[in-house]
Amino acid sequence: MKRLLNFIDGQFRPPAPGRYLPNVEPATGRVMAEIPESGPEDVDAAVAAASRAFEAWRKTPAEERSRLLLRVAELIEANFEDLARLESEDSGKPVALARRMDVPRAILNFRFFATAILHAETSAHMTDDRALNYTLRQPLGVAGLISPWNLPLYLLTWKIAPAIAAGNTCVAKPSELTPMTADRLAALIGEAGIPPGVVNVVHGPGASAGRALTSHPKVPLISFTGGTKTGADVMTHAGPLFKKVSLELGGKNPNLVFADADLEQAVATSIQSSFSNQGEICLCGSRLFVEKPIYDEFLDRFLAATRKLRIGDPLEPATEVGALVSDAHRNKVEGYVALAREEGGRILTGGKRPADLPERVRGGYFLEPTVVAGLDCSRRVMQEEIFGPVVTVTPFASPEEAIALANGTRYGLSASVWTRDLQKAHRVAAALESGTVWVNTWLLRDLRVPFGGMKESGVGREGGFESLAFFTEAKNVCVKL
Ligand code: NDP
Repeated sequence: MKRLLNFIDGQFRPPAPGRYLPNVEPATGRVMAEIPESGPEDVDAAVAAASRAFEAWRKTPAEERSRLLLRVAELIEANFEDLARLESEDSGKPVALARRMDVPRAILNFRFFATAILHAETSAHMTDDRALNYTLRQPLGVAGLISPWNLPLYLLTWKIAPAIAAGNTCVAKPSELTPMTADRLAALIGEAGIPPGVVNVVHGPGASAGRALTSHPKVPLISFTGGTKTGADVMTHAGPLFKKVSLELGGKNPNLVFADADLEQAVATSIQSSFSNQGEICLCGSRLFVEKPIYDEFLDRFLAATRKLRIGDPLEPATEVGALVSDAHRNKVEGYVALAREEGGRILTGGKRPADLPERVRGGYFLEPTVVAGLDCSRRVMQEEIFGPVVTVTPFASPEEAIALANGTRYGLSASVWTRDLQKAHRVAAALESGTVWVNTWLLRDLRVPFGGMKESGVGREGGFESLAFFTEAKNVCVKL
């Protein structure tokens, strides 16, 4: 069986405690590999390697850093199929989705930041004829990068690429549930010629390896993507050390469908935004609000399309809904389905483990796409992030009511608005408490735009020059004339 190792100072090394954890394939329930159960000693070694590498890396010309990052992108591309398959096996997501989204986006992340640093500008401010101020943007040192299990390679590269493009070195801690593509990426980074110590990968549980990183005094910057509760723990440890922190956290995203929307498009895209990656995307629209005149028709079409989704072996190219990431996570999602019933909701479709799965995946963590109606918006199922294939539907009577319902949670990550009325679209978009608003679309991402959450969905923005700003420190130099 494959045994993963940490990647420290350009070499694969066993964890200091010598202990390993099983890594399970969610579609089968079988152990597919062992991963290091790293702790603070491993994080210390990785931070020391990254600190040693920093001085030379920060002085490496941007053109050279860019060339090396582009080489990583090429190597990911050369290993496209292997990575797609590995991501699917490790996380339970359909291989078709990994091919369409995860791997292409990992390539793009490296290309995007490799070229962005060639176009970076800085600002100068003249103080009348008395002084010239100019801004230096300098890397901080060792960046701590912590990523979740839902989009493992996509989100890890979204952090590593800008961090090292900007001249930092880094220690990455992928989720212990999905370590496989991070391990492959480490090998490709070595193969690309990125100097030893610039990128280090430490595997292991969040509570030990992750926390060792957030509380490490020699790590001045933390980029974290994960749940809101964990984000609070990251802040608790990083805060007293005055680290620069970016938090991309959970969501309970509203999807507002107005009566004048293109119904066909709204239904087709809402199926994607509700159930892509089994609903395990932070940007999934888990609360559907539909304007009363079209509520019944929308619901009929939406339910019909939900029932048609093909659940099955994630490695089959035609599969649209794969397995949830773990048994524990499926239990949590099923708990919310039971709670929906207790809270007075009606399960219109789904809610069960699918029957008739192919032989290979009978032991996997599958759950049918589930639609719940009839819940009051104050209920826990309408307020808490479920992060699974469960969506609620609720009618509304006016734009004002839709906005109030959409804003009525502690989250504020993303929202979708479906309407053909341009003025209404702009008005509603401006009123939504949400870091991203999509109008007549979902998950259309331009890497240049600011990305992040309001309220308990996060702190800070990443994306484009916002990422490069986060991974650098602005220093003003004032020269008297
Ligand atoms: P978690 O918060 O459980 O874990 C995220 C990462 O943090 C993992 O690597 C985890 O390690 C690590 N971790 C856990 N505890 C600590 C700790 N105390 N200190 C430091 N690191 C720790 O999230 P999930 O992995 O369950 O991911 C799902 C969540 O991520 C959802 O809430 C989702 O909304 C959110 N998310 C947000 C996105 C955004 O852009 N806003 C994008 C994608 C997901 P380990 O898993 O090994 O314990």
